[in-house]
Amino acid sequence: MTTDPMTTDPQCIIIGAGHAADEAVMSLRREGWTGSITLVGEEPHPPYNRPPLSKTFLAAGQAPEQLFFREPGVYQRAGVTLELGRRAIAIERATRHVRLDDGRSLPFAKLLIATGARPRMIDLPGALPGDMLPVRTIDDVLAIRPFARPGGRIVLIGAGYIGLETAAMLRKIGASVTVLEAMPRVLARVTAPAVSAFFERVHREEGVEIVTGATIAGLELQGGVKAIRLADGRSFPADLIIVGIGVLPNSEIAEAAGLATDRGILVDEACRTSDPDILAAGDCTRFTSAHYRASVRLESVQNAKDQARTAAAAICGKPARYDALPWFWSDQYDVKLQIAGLSEGFDAIALRGDATTGRSFAAFYLKAGEVIAVDAVNRPKEFMVGKKLIAARAHVDATRLADEAVPVADLAR
Ligand code: FAD
Repeated sequence: MTTDPMTTDPQCIIIGAGHAADEAVMSLRREGWTGSITLVGEEPHPPYNRPPLSKTFLAAGQAPEQLFFREPGVYQRAGVTLELGRRAIAIERATRHVRLDDGRSLPFAKLLIATGARPRMIDLPGALPGDMLPVRTIDDVLAIRPFARPGGRIVLIGAGYIGLETAAMLRKIGASVTVLEAMPRVLARVTAPAVSAFFERVHREEGVEIVTGATIAGLELQGGVKAIRLADGRSFPADLIIVGIGVLPNSEIAEAAGLATDRGILVDEACRTSDPDILAAGDCTRFTSAHYRASVRLESVQNAKDQARTAAAAICGKPARYDALPWFWSDQYDVKLQIAGLSEGFDAIALRGDATTGRSFAAFYLKAGEVIAVDAVNRPKEFMVGKKLIAARAHVDATRLADEAVPVADLAR
């Protein structure tokens, strides 16, 4: 085991300072790691809560500090060294060191890679740096805020959860918002057509212009104002363009170190990479879901935190197995969407409640009769019951799931 030449303590380094990293440091101490812990994060901030970035934090007023998980003193008292504003540029496996962008090399006995993901951006002919912004970091949102004002014209590219949440918040602030989506419907990668239709309706009711099937041709200037031009000739003036077309896992540092990767860092059920002293957790990982028996890469707080706890236990030599049921949430206007499970591959759907005129329903996804996922819109009870049904691999008749005369609690009996 590698130790600091100055001490006999084993050293644990965590690369990345996001959700997974924060959970890992606290779990390591709980699990009995007595050695040193160093957290290397390229952002200037200590670990912070990312989901509010596309929600409440977009509106002016909240200070970055309000998103921080803990005061820096908490890390200090836990014996954690924060190396912030520092990028890890290489993992030297032969000598068990992590090289930083300031030239230092830090030794490690155990290493956790928690580098998350970065936004995919598009190459838009005519666009200058700063014309298009993603929503991933505090600093991204601080750059967006001056445009988030009544009457400001904002074009969002991409109608995934982050794009739609951002659209909802910008509308609330009073901006004029257009969403351009390449697919024929919003949320096409993650939901059924009925749920997509619900969100399109809600956004239109709230005054968002949604254009699906949009092929972007370029950026042009119209009387000194930027405008996005579509291939069909339509154009949309924009004071700011926000890009929300998904993310790419930050797995290059692992790949360069010779660790196994495949659209993410490959980890086993204990979150170990192909090198047992190097673990990984969060958005940067890909693993085989025990429940779905499928290779998945998840982007959620639940996954980041649960994997981090598993990795911390494994680092401390405790039995560790990650098999949590995925869940996620999204807030848009007065709509609270809670999702449990993974709907990919569903062959039937049961809609409970009215998705076409109201704002409260649940969509249960079935595959060969088994409940595999639920999207619950302002339906916390259905979300809870859905979780139980999915975990139990329950087979429930679709008509029974859809029948509001059957009490929700009875669905799991
Ligand atoms: P991150 O939180 O991204 O942290 C990784 C950190 O590592 C980053 O700070 C990155 O800069 C740093 N890093 C990368 N490479 C290096 C390097 N070489 N050296 C040093 N540092 C490095 N999830 C939900 O469940 N519900 C939601 O409602 C929700 N809303 C979201 C809204 C937004 C706007 C965004 C962006 C995400 C949202 N998510 C949501 C997803 C959730 O935030 C992520 O799944 C979660 O942050 C993943 O945690 P992580 O620790 O893996 O990565």
